[in-house]
Parts: sequence; C-alpha cells; structure tokens
Amino acid sequence: MADWKETNTHIRILRDAEAGGYGVVAVIAYNIEQVYGFIEAAKVARSPLIIQFFPWAIQTFDGMLVRAAAEAAKNAGVPISIHLDHCQSEELLQKAAELPFDSIMVDMSHYEKEENIRKTAHWVRHCNERHIATEAEPGRIEGGEDGVMDTAGLKACMTTPEEVDEFVATGVDTLAPAFGNVHGEYGPQGPQLDFERLEKIRSYANRRVRIAVHGTNGFPPELVKRCIAAGASKVNVNRLVLDDYYDHLYASAGKMPHTKLIEEGIEKVVNLTVKWLEIVGSAGKA
Ligand SMILES: [Zn+2]
Repeated sequence: MADWKETNTHIRILRDAEAGGYGVVAVIAYNIEQVYGFIEAAKVARSPLIIQFFPWAIQTFDGMLVRAAAEAAKNAGVPISIHLDHCQSEELLQKAAELPFDSIMVDMSHYEKEENIRKTAHWVRHCNERHIATEAEPGRIEGGEDGVMDTAGLKACMTTPEEVDEFVATGVDTLAPAFGNVHGEYGPQGPQLDFERLEKIRSYANRRVRIAVHGTNGFPPELVKRCIAAGASKVNVNRLVLDDYYDHLYASAGKMPHTKLIEEGIEKVVNLTVKWLEIVGSAGKA
C-alpha cells in the first residue's frame, strides 16, 4: 500500500471501524450550521466521523464550505474526514481533486459496466496522485437526491460478488454496493434489503476495501446495526441526523430572532447526531 494511504484520515477511520466491528456515520452537510453541529457531536461523543458533501455544495459555495469544514475537522481533536459523495461529472472531479477532500466518490455508475470501470480507474489514479482516497459504486443504486442524477430511468443492478474484484482492481478504497438500498425515500413496503448479498460481497472484499451503505433514509436503528453486522463500515446518513433540524426550522422560522433560530438549529444537529454515533458503536472510539 502507498505510504500516504497509511495516514489518510478517511482510510484510517474506516479501517479502524472494520477492525473494531463498529460503523462510522457519514453525514451530509448542506450549510455551516450543520458542519459545526456535526463536529460538535463528534467531540461530545469522542467519535470518529465522516462529513460528506454533494457536488451541489461545491458548485453553490465555490468550494468555501468544503474548505471551512476541512479546516474545522483538522482542529477537532477527534478524527473527522471530509468526503465528496457521488461525483458523477468528470469536469467536477477535476475541480474537486484540488479541494481539501480526504476522499471522493467517483460515481460512474450511470455508465454501462465496462465504461464505469474504465472511467473509475482513471479518476482513482487522478485522486490518488493527490493523496485522496476513493469510493465507487459497482452495480447501480436506484433513485436520486439533491443534485445527484436520478437513475430511475436506468436499470437498477444489484452488485454481484464478481464485480467486487473488478472494482478492487481499479484501486478504490471503499465500495458502495447495491443490495436493495435506494436513494431518497422508500415506498410503502419500506426497505427490502438483500443481506445475503451484502455478506457475500463483504467476504469477497476480504478486507481489501471497506463497504459503504447508501440510502438509509427512514432506517430504524436495528436495520442500521444489521447493515454493520453484515459488513458495512461506512453508513451514509442524510435525514436520519437532520430531521430534527428541519422540523425546528419549519416550526420556528419567523417566530424567534434569526440568531436564536440558528443556535437552536445547531443544537438539534448535535443531539440527533450524537444519538446515531452511539447507535453505530463509534462513540468513545476516538
Ligand atoms: Zn449515495
């Protein structure tokens, strides 16, 4: 393994989690209040944490939010990595690789498999040259969210254990398999996850790469724990840690001073995030 991979915060956090049998929460931040609240939560819980951004955040804030988060993460006193979720545009990958990311998801899953693998390998190399770790999506997870291309028109493909080898060969550090998980909201039936598939993928991966679970909106704690037991080290969460924040905004906007609205919003993020850090078992591990 390349020397820089030994010290890359993202790789280290996930490797420790895999060895320790716990999960790491990977939150999505949309603004500075959330970034601040997530970091406070990690400090309070003495927990490792991954803060992710959608490409939307780079485009909207011209990299400013990412730089601010990276600076704060460095000074947090607990391991926090900064990750770019679902970068589907090669133009944006070029730009993102110059920002202070510890890890980038090279998501070429909207291409057919051969093209996906070829492009993934190219961008993994590009990121690695800048000491940035990578994540890729073998197969295709259904649905879309917040600026990430909706793949509903494309065929969802469950990840096969054989694809694990093909993607490991590209040099990625983390795989995001499709095993019945969906981006956005689940239908009335709720999540129908293929745990047998996830376990098989884990055993094929054989600790060469870490596994990320995407699409956890509405998951009860037991389901998240089951994903971790089946082999997931990185647990992507969006609404699970932000629901209270949005409820607070909807209920209180215009009814209190703006400064108080912001302060109480941060508190909502901290409290709900700490709860999830405890659920995945990472609290106290930093
Ligand atoms: Zn995702």
